[in-house]
Amino acid sequence: MRPDILNPLFTESSALKGVGAAVVKPLERLGLTRAVDLAFHLPVSWIERQRVRRLVEAETGRMVGLVLTAHDYRSSGSARAPFRVRAVDEAGDPVSIVYFGKNSGWPRKLFPIGEPRFVSGRLDQFGDDLQIVHPDHVVELGEAGAIPDREPVYGLSEGITNGRMRELVAQGVARAPELPEWIEPGLKQRKSWPDWRPALAAAHEDPGAKSARERLAFDEIFASQLALMLLRASTRRRRGNPIAGDGHLRDQLKLPFAPTGAQRRAFAEIEGDMAQSIPMLRLLQGDVGSGKTLVALMALLNAVEAGGQGAFLAPTEILARQHFASLREMLAGLPVNIALLTGRDKGKARESTLMGLADGSIHILVGTHAIFQDAVAYRNLALAIIDEQHRFGVSQRLMLTAKAERTPHLLVMTATPIPRTLTLTQYGDMDVSRLDEMPPGRQPVDTRVISDARLEEVIEGLGRHIGGGRQAYWVCPLVEQGEAEDEAAAEARAAILRNRFGAEMVGVVHGRMPGPEKDAVMEAFASGRLKLLVATTVIEVGVNVPNATLMVVEAAERFGLAQLHQLRGRVGRGDQRSFCMLLHGQNLSETARSRLALMRETNDGFRIAEEDLRLRGAGEILGTRQSGEQRFRIATPEQIQDLLGAAHDDARLLMDRDGGLDSERGQAARTCLYLFERDAAIALLASG
Ligand code: ADP
Ligand code: MG
Repeated sequence: MRPDILNPLFTESSALKGVGAAVVKPLERLGLTRAVDLAFHLPVSWIERQRVRRLVEAETGRMVGLVLTAHDYRSSGSARAPFRVRAVDEAGDPVSIVYFGKNSGWPRKLFPIGEPRFVSGRLDQFGDDLQIVHPDHVVELGEAGAIPDREPVYGLSEGITNGRMRELVAQGVARAPELPEWIEPGLKQRKSWPDWRPALAAAHEDPGAKSARERLAFDEIFASQLALMLLRASTRRRRGNPIAGDGHLRDQLKLPFAPTGAQRRAFAEIEGDMAQSIPMLRLLQGDVGSGKTLVALMALLNAVEAGGQGAFLAPTEILARQHFASLREMLAGLPVNIALLTGRDKGKARESTLMGLADGSIHILVGTHAIFQDAVAYRNLALAIIDEQHRFGVSQRLMLTAKAERTPHLLVMTATPIPRTLTLTQYGDMDVSRLDEMPPGRQPVDTRVISDARLEEVIEGLGRHIGGGRQAYWVCPLVEQGEAEDEAAAEARAAILRNRFGAEMVGVVHGRMPGPEKDAVMEAFASGRLKLLVATTVIEVGVNVPNATLMVVEAAERFGLAQLHQLRGRVGRGDQRSFCMLLHGQNLSETARSRLALMRETNDGFRIAEEDLRLRGAGEILGTRQSGEQRFRIATPEQIQDLLGAAHDDARLLMDRDGGLDSERGQAARTCLYLFERDAAIALLASG
């Protein structure tokens, strides 16, 4: 149960003063559905308003505030042309106040002819004239004092102005109570951090309040570290089944290759964990193509040999199908029954799979989230494997472990080569195995860095490539503004390429497409009917189309290196030589240049991740648009990097020295967990 003291913060935004239907939508789009979301919606920048008496004293391009008097109105009559209020300052110097797309009634009312008004807005030079477009304040002189010289600027969405957002955020902040302190006093003092509530207020009021913001970021990181620690502690306390297969199934595997040394090592570590009565909690990190599937298979067989079942969870329908197909192929001839279950399976087929799981005749189940729904009961789930964990959150992990009477061993696999220092944020205290060696004979992808001035040549090359019967990816970048724009960019590029190569050759996928539709396009590409797949980064995870041997990445400088590396892993999966063309804009910074050069130089994901961390900081690796529960809304990537160690240590200290969650500080830390909604971890404690 959430502590009562937090209740005011968790009221719906729609219950705040003056929130009508019109702003509910934009607030929802921004994810600001409760008071707490507004309170944590920190300013992205600041307006500093220069108060002047005369226009000549003001700098153009800046926010100014001064007294102006209107003398006439200009409108060209056309509905689309702006409406202009022509005004003068106290010395008679002219300025136009410009309104686009508004009916002129509004500005006429704000600026009665001949009456002075205090006006604030950005002063711009337009040709020979000065203008202010859509001033943010126009008030009678008596009210000028109420306009602050400094204002926070908030992230906005269509339908809500900054002024309105400020009021709402202020209401959110006003609901924040004084909270007991969860930070260790020595640390707090060393850092000179303020208390929580003053820190929150200062972060919205004072652009110089660095330590306030830092404290808030620390709290968020601390909550996530503590949650991960609790999760782990509770797994450790749970009983699992020691699993030790006798090897009779693994001996029957007919592999066309010998496992790499790294695969052997990883597998030995997993085998060692599974033999314990404490459930395994292990992360398997291996670059794309490093052979994680084989390691997974060996672990699954280990479980089956010992009379248990294994579940293999993939993030998408298409990946589940791919994993199912490749595992089944490797298992050919073995007395192992493997089944597939996804959200699409209905009726008889689904029923019979559920039966097989319950009676134990199905040994291995591959699927999407559907495999951990309530209706799915395992006879003896011994091992759960999650592929591409970064798409899953802590609560899914919990759901999964709740499935069995005895907690199953858990193996999480990821192809994101996160540097060691950052695995903590993502995975907490999991044990880590790394596949740091590629299977032999892998051809590195031939990577070229090309200016987008040569786009036409690239498209010609692409034409020759698909003309020769091979396939290709075209990746469009995420645009800053949001998914709608990402989609638009991908559609626009696809239209151009369809025009060129024929509509039946080119498919497009992006994040906003409904699942089944996306899968249909992916399948058409995988089957070879489509030659070219235009995509946003949705193809990042796992897709395997060996005949696709060319990838073009547009505006490659906007991607994180780790992300580029993952994208590039989509090609080079067959025995054909593969190419990756990284297109970039024409004014590349020095850093951007060296980053792209690094991509050309190496195919080693771990090296790329470490270098990227060095060159650009943690943000690029963690990604600014993360999904799942590991997301941070206050802490910036830089803060995560700076504060992670301290947050981790402080959480440790609380658990090991300061009496855990039951001590006084521990009670405060619980509140912190609820504040950041990491309470799944607390529920877990309650359930024992
Ligand atoms: P990932 O780690 O990306 O999941 P996969 O498990 O899909 O990689 O393996 C990529 C390819 O490498 C597969 O075709 C697989 O059969 C092959 N492979 C895996 N292990 C070895 C090995 N030890 N020697 C040669 N090829 C291997
Ligand atoms: Mg894989």
